[in-house]
Amino acid sequence: MNDQELRAFIAEIVKFDNRKISQAMILSWGDIAHFGHWTYAEAMEALTWHAANSTEWLMPAHINLRIKDQRQMPVRPAELPQIARKPPAAPETIKTVMRELRERMGWPKKATTYSDPELTVKCPHEPCSAGIDSPCRKLWSHGRRQGTYTAIDTYHDSRTKAAETEAP
Ligand SMILES: [Zn+2]
Repeated sequence: MNDQELRAFIAEIVKFDNRKISQAMILSWGDIAHFGHWTYAEAMEALTWHAANSTEWLMPAHINLRIKDQRQMPVRPAELPQIARKPPAAPETIKTVMRELRERMGWPKKATTYSDPELTVKCPHEPCSAGIDSPCRKLWSHGRRQGTYTAIDTYHDSRTKAAETEAP
């Protein structure tokens, strides 16, 4: 419970029994809240419980004892935190799975989809040097297309190796 929550909690106590609020009171309640590691929700539950079940003048000990009791209660299933959704697979895992699938299904090692792991790395093959997300290419050394690049439907081996070792 932070300072703001402590003040809000004390305001609730005042609503409940009209007690006079003082700096000393805030400090003493704050100390006990701090040592008991009260949360605002816990303190409010304890205050409500006390209001409903006790005629005694509310003391910090009432809140403390109620919170301790509640913490020892088994957690009801509805209050259990939701099981965290599985985090998305790590890129390395995707690469491994894709490679295994390719091998098992006999898929050709081609630049077929944007999810090819090779596309996450720059091609280290000097004459190609295709950037990330670009297919491997060849440079025409003669003929009509001399000096231009054409995408090839495979990856240079060095790029495949790089994709297996480098994280994107
Ligand atoms: Zn290449």
